[in-house]
Parts: sequence; structure tokens; C-alpha cells
Amino acid sequence: MARYTGAVCRLCRREGQKLFLKGERCYTDKCSVGRRSYAPGQHGQGRKKLSEYGIQLRAKQATRRYYGILEGQFRHYYELAEKKEGKTGEQLLSIIETRLDNVIYRLGFATSRPEARQLVLHNHFLVNGRKVNIPSFLVKPGDVIKITEKSRGSEKIKQVLETNASRPVPKWLEVNKEALEGKVVALPTREDIDLAVEETLIVELYSK
Ligand code: SF4
Repeated sequence: MARYTGAVCRLCRREGQKLFLKGERCYTDKCSVGRRSYAPGQHGQGRKKLSEYGIQLRAKQATRRYYGILEGQFRHYYELAEKKEGKTGEQLLSIIETRLDNVIYRLGFATSRPEARQLVLHNHFLVNGRKVNIPSFLVKPGDVIKITEKSRGSEKIKQVLETNASRPVPKWLEVNKEALEGKVVALPTREDIDLAVEETLIVELYSK
């Protein structure tokens, strides 16, 4: 499947906000968003005001890039959200938040979502006792996510856990750092999601 393999900091600069794609660096003053707060490219500093469509598109792209999701899959989540009760935009974010790669990141078992995706693909996690290596797997309340016995001794995993030891875990998840496991205690609501995007703009874009 085609994935963006270019310089990820350009994506943050394009969206004008931190998308936290590089792990530790994102929390330091080396982050490019603070140092060069204009869009990348030759005309990055001279961009004109965005149209209504442009604003909606940027909201969708920022969300997609924040979670590392391709267009087709994002559209699929939107269709799922439309079928649920409540506000479609909020349902959309709630569904995406429950992706396994995002949950691994939120639990502090990875330094960034791209890293979480890699760790999931490399079989480092169990969901309810079974190996799951699908980053887009959607978890539900009651699910227990564990680091496999084999992976607990891995230097990579030890380093990741140490780096993320102080990162707060959202209230819809519980983490047991001794047992190296996490539990989904509820579905995430909009207040639980720290993404600075107006999700109604995405709904407006897809409703055209
Ligand atoms: Fe780069 Fe992270 Fe800063 Fe984004 S938030 S510009 S990925 S360092």
C-alpha cells in the first residue's frame, strides 16, 4: 500500500500544527513547526488566504496525517461514522482513536503513531491474549492490550517504555506499567482527543 515516505516535518508545516510524527523530537525545540512556522516549498511564505474548500480540505488532511491514514480508509471511517448516532464528526474521531496503533501510542507503548504502527506490524502486542498485527484493528471497551512476553526483553521496547514513562494516558484508557498492559475502559469522546481540528469542517467537505 502506498504510504508517504518523504520528510514528515513538512506535513506538520503544511498543516500549521504539530502532528507528532517523529517521537521525542516533537517535544523539543528542534521541532520545525516552532522554528519555521510557514508552509514548506518555494511559495510557502507567500500563501494567500484559503477558500472555504481549502479550509475544509486542510482540516481533513491534518486529521488524516495526524493518525497516518490513507484517503480510502479515512473515507471508510467517515461512512462508519455516518451510520452511528450522534455528531458524525465526533463519531469519526472516536472511531479513528480506537485504532490499535493509536491506542499503543496513547498507552505510552510507542513514541509516535508511525512507531506504534511498526511495532504492531512486528507482532509485539496481544489483544485479549491473541496476537494482533493489524494497525487499523479497532479496539472496544473491555479489550486488554499487552506487550508479548518475548517482546518484554527487547531493548527497543525497554527504551520506548522509558522514553514515554511520564506521558499522560487519556481517561478512556488504563495502563498497568508493571504488567505492561493497558485496558480500554470506555469509548473516547471528543474531549478526550487533543487534536486541534474542527471536525465539522471534514463533515462539510464530505457532504458536498
Ligand atoms: Fe517534526 Fe514532530 Fe515537529 Fe511535526 S511535531 S514538525 S514531526 S518534530
